[in-house]
Amino acid sequence: MRDLGIIEDGAVLIESGKITAVGTTDELRRQSKNADQIDCSSKVVLPGFVDSHTHPVFAAPRLIDFEKRIAGASYEEIAAAGGGIRASIRGVRESTTEQLGGHVLRAFNEMAAFGTTTVEAKSGYGLSLESELKSLEAIQQAARQWPGTVVATLLGAHVPPPEYRENPDEYVRILCEEMIPEAARRELAEYVDVFCERGAFTLEQSARILRAAVAHGLKTRAHVNQLTQTSLEGFTEFHPASFDHMDNVSDDDIAMLSKLETVATLLPAANYFLGLGAFPPARKLIDSGVAVALATDYNPGTAPTTSMPFVLSVACTHMKMSPAEAIAAATFNGACALGLQHRKGSIEPGKDADVAIFEATDYRELAYWVGVNRCRRVFLNGIELSW
Ligand SMILES: [Zn+2]
Repeated sequence: MRDLGIIEDGAVLIESGKITAVGTTDELRRQSKNADQIDCSSKVVLPGFVDSHTHPVFAAPRLIDFEKRIAGASYEEIAAAGGGIRASIRGVRESTTEQLGGHVLRAFNEMAAFGTTTVEAKSGYGLSLESELKSLEAIQQAARQWPGTVVATLLGAHVPPPEYRENPDEYVRILCEEMIPEAARRELAEYVDVFCERGAFTLEQSARILRAAVAHGLKTRAHVNQLTQTSLEGFTEFHPASFDHMDNVSDDDIAMLSKLETVATLLPAANYFLGLGAFPPARKLIDSGVAVALATDYNPGTAPTTSMPFVLSVACTHMKMSPAEAIAAATFNGACALGLQHRKGSIEPGKDADVAIFEATDYRELAYWVGVNRCRRVFLNGIELSW
């Protein structure tokens, strides 16, 4: 992760949405005489960021939560004041596909302006058959209007919805027997995700949900070890592409994970936004040989940011990742977390032309400037997005 393979005075040749050659400017000038040229002198050119964990399908920001939490309110007090996840559920259920698709597209465009070219997007605030499918349709609608690459994930297993609080197993049944089969049949999602946590779904329920996903030909990933510790052994039979959050992962599971291809996706913007003192154990994971990815966790409750450069900054300052490690985690390892490492995450011949150009003369500046957007131009599958 510390070797970024930097080419000084480098050049990239792009044709028909693909990278066809990479080398020094002198080398490429000879073989691309008729190409349009973009001057990148005194710039850093990176593979576009892969934001491998986002929740963009929601109707409104959660400002009640924001202000109440600052004032010291508890989760219950925020819910009683009309905030919390229930507010997001209401917003999604009352919105049309077109309205939600508009919100998602705006988020994708914002992400691209920070240099992101591939996004994983989850449903998860509808929490009914109809509203989860509507959320996935909104993602598909936005994806059709955006030149970047979108990977859709069904997160019907975010939390049990209020109407099934007393009978969460019935909701799990609906997920396994209705939601997952229907999302698979209509090809609305590639992955199924589950939030395995106190107050969300138990390990046993999570396993049932992921088993249904695999049975219907969908791939798996999981939110796990965010608030409490859960053994990862119960998940390995589903070969998840990624375990996400991982704040409380055990040493035994770190040792196990170092032997698997499953990526640990860390989401430090959530810790930052919640004002937590503790962050996921990035150093321990990396030093043990676990593949670590970074993502925004863009969502209205705990991480309202579309900025991967901000996440890089937090990863370096609060998790002690080096700037090079943070860039590798936000590009190539993010691609691995989505099973897209053959197409995304690095600038190599044959890969998709996802390239971001930054106003910087040293790659370390990307993690150094806090809350500043140095991205100047971005190409998604070879198409430049202007903003
Ligand atoms: Zn999440």
